[in-house]
Formats: sequence, structure tokens, C-alpha cells
Amino acid sequence: MSKPNDQNGRTDADKQNENSPQPRHQRTDIVHTGLDPFDHYGFINPPSYRGSTVLFPTVEALQARTQPYLYGRRGTPTVRALEAAIAKLEGAARSFVTSSGLAAINLTMFALLKQGDHILIIDNAYQPTRAFADGVLAKFGIEISYFDPLVGSGIAQLLKPNTKVIFTEAPGSQTFEMPDIGAISAVAQANNIWHVMDNTWASPLYFKPFNHGVDISIQAATKYIVGHSDAMLGAVSVSDQAVDELVKAVDVIGFNPGSEETYLGLRGIKTIDVRLARHWQSGVEMALWLEQRPEIERVLHPALPSHPGHHIWKRDFLGASGLFAVILKPCSKAAVAAMLDHLELFGMGYSWGGFESLVIPFDPRPYRTATTWPAQGQALRFHIGLEDVEDLKTDLEAGFRRLASTPANLIG
Ligand SMILES: *Cc1c(COP(=O)(O)O)cnc(C)c1O
Repeated sequence: MSKPNDQNGRTDADKQNENSPQPRHQRTDIVHTGLDPFDHYGFINPPSYRGSTVLFPTVEALQARTQPYLYGRRGTPTVRALEAAIAKLEGAARSFVTSSGLAAINLTMFALLKQGDHILIIDNAYQPTRAFADGVLAKFGIEISYFDPLVGSGIAQLLKPNTKVIFTEAPGSQTFEMPDIGAISAVAQANNIWHVMDNTWASPLYFKPFNHGVDISIQAATKYIVGHSDAMLGAVSVSDQAVDELVKAVDVIGFNPGSEETYLGLRGIKTIDVRLARHWQSGVEMALWLEQRPEIERVLHPALPSHPGHHIWKRDFLGASGLFAVILKPCSKAAVAAMLDHLELFGMGYSWGGFESLVIPFDPRPYRTATTWPAQGQALRFHIGLEDVEDLKTDLEAGFRRLASTPANLIG
């Protein structure tokens, strides 16, 4: 039998590192964490363990429940390997992988909240996060309010005696306002409130939530951890104080990931460092190029000096991903459709974080409640993939020509 990882999913290799005087660099950790080749006959990667039933050799072992693996839903060696790698990268005490990013969010809410509690959610949260809160948490008697992403330490004024959780996302989905995570954490800590952050945009590579006082960090691992648009996966990473709450929830909720997806997540995370470096570089180059285009009103990318939250990004973040948005100068919907319908390299579709470039039109106005989205023009969200940026510019240039020559543009 293979040697199990310990309770925290750490392998022997990790423990040796903890004892060595020189901490390893992140890049090295990504490559080696979670792997224990000689537990698998020397093969580098653990296999994709497919399993429901786990056998126990004796009645005593069955009743003691001290075997490292008890039942498929509660994790396999592949799951532990991926959790160890994510925890290492996030700087977490422990990580738990789930069947999707949304499952990771919902698991966390179920773990922390009970009837009569109040949760404060950032107004620019991923829309399905809001839908879960409004549609499900509310039904269980949990009070929900939304707050201005730029509230900073002013969040103290929004607390109620029953506030249990503050939920943030930085920068916010679609609109990219940059909250001050540290300022919000300080208020949460002073008031004994959990600060949960959706850290999907930067990935655990470019934002270290636990260095900024966050208690629980969520990843839609579907995005940059999987990195190839071929699997759905989520992760909840926690500080020491939150481990027990999450263990209790994981044991009874059953949002466990599939075996194939887990394997793809583990495979994806090994190359996240090189992929993200390209997404960052190409994303900034495309954003700067778009900023110069006459069709563009405004680019919403925190790594650009023109972004109102740029100073926060510079202070707190270690890099940027390939996701940002633009506001177009006023034009008709038909003109935007003409631009997007015939792009050759940019695909249109939800999700992002894979190797390919994507674009979608969006309108944040209908679902914001604490703040009003001020932009007049239509908005596009871009994901810049790993293609050559010159080819991407050529594709968009042709799109802008179609936008300009659409007759409806004249009256729109
Ligand atoms: C995609 C996404 C999610 C949800 O992840 P799924 O794996 O699609 O369920 C959550 N938060 C953010 C910011 C996302 O972009």
C-alpha cells in the first residue's frame, strides 16, 4: 500500500522542506508539492484514483476509522495531492477541493452560516454567488446585504450584531473595482467575523490572501488551476482557525470532485507559473493597445496605471491574470454583434482561464444593488490566452472595422 499523506495532505517531501533551513521558492514548491513518486512505483504523478468503497482489513480497523482513506467521497490520494499543492500556493493551513468553484463558495457559506446570521457581500461578486445567497441562503433565514466594493474600512459602519461573514472578491467579477482587502480584514478581525475572499482572478500565484488577513480563500480552480478549459473544479483554502468548520461541512455536504477532474487539476497546477506569466504579459499588452483605440471609452484592468485601483493592485498583488474588461464608446448592439460574431481567434463563451482567448459582452447594471454601475457604453470582457498578441490584435482590428461599418452604428 502506498504511504498516505498526513492529515493536512502534506507529503514526506513537504515535511523535509519544513525542516530545512532554506525555504524553497514558490516555483519549486508548485512543481513538487503533493507528489510522492515512490508511493507509486516511481511514476511521477499519482494515478487518478477512482473509488467509492475503501476496504478495511479488520473489524477493529473499520471501527477505529484511523485509516487515511475511508470512503471515496471523503478524498483519495489524488485529491490529497491536489489539496496539498493548492494549500501550499495559497499559503493556507489546509485546502479542500470541490466539484466546481460555485460548490466551493456554497460549501463555505453552509459551513459558516446559520439561521439568523447576517452576511455582507461585495456588490461586484460573481453573479451566481449573489444568486446562491439570494435564492438559497435567504430561504434558510440568513440576512444578506451588499456593499460598495470601494468601502474600505467604512465596512465597520455596515456591521450588525449578527454579522458573521464578509464575502469579497478582488478585483470584482466583470467590473474590476479593486477593494482594499487588508482594510476589510482589519474590521473583520476586530469584530470576530469571517472574511471569505474569492481569489480566482489573481489565482493563488498572484495574490496571497492569508498575508492580507483573509480567513478563507476560494478558487474557481476551473479557471487557472485546471488551465485548459477541460474540467470543472473548486477549492476552499483556510487558515488554522477555520479548519474545523470546513472539515465538519466537508464531511456532511458531499461536494467532492470527480476523479478525472481532480487529476486534471493536479496536472494543470504544475504549469500555472509559466502560463500565468504569459497571460499577465499579454493581457497588459492587449489592454494598453485597446486603451489607444478610438472605439474604446475605458479599459478596466487593475495593472494599468489608468485604473482607479491601480495603487492597491501594486501594493497587494504579485501579478495580474489575463482577464479584464473594456467599455466601448456608445454604439448599437448590432455593431457590437457584427464585431464579435466573426472573430477568428477570440471565442465567445462563459468561463475563462484556459489557453485560448475569449470575449463576451456583459451588462452589470441589472444585478447590482448597493451601487449603480455608471458606464453608459456597452462592455466587453476579454480573456487573453496564450496566442501571439499580434495575431490577437489583427483579429480585433478586423472586428473594429465591422463595428464601424455596421449601418445601425449610425443610428445606434
Ligand atoms: C468562474 C467563477 C466562479 C465559479 O466557478 P465554477 O467552477 O464555474 O463554478 C466563481 N468565482 C469567480 C470569480 C469565477 O470567475
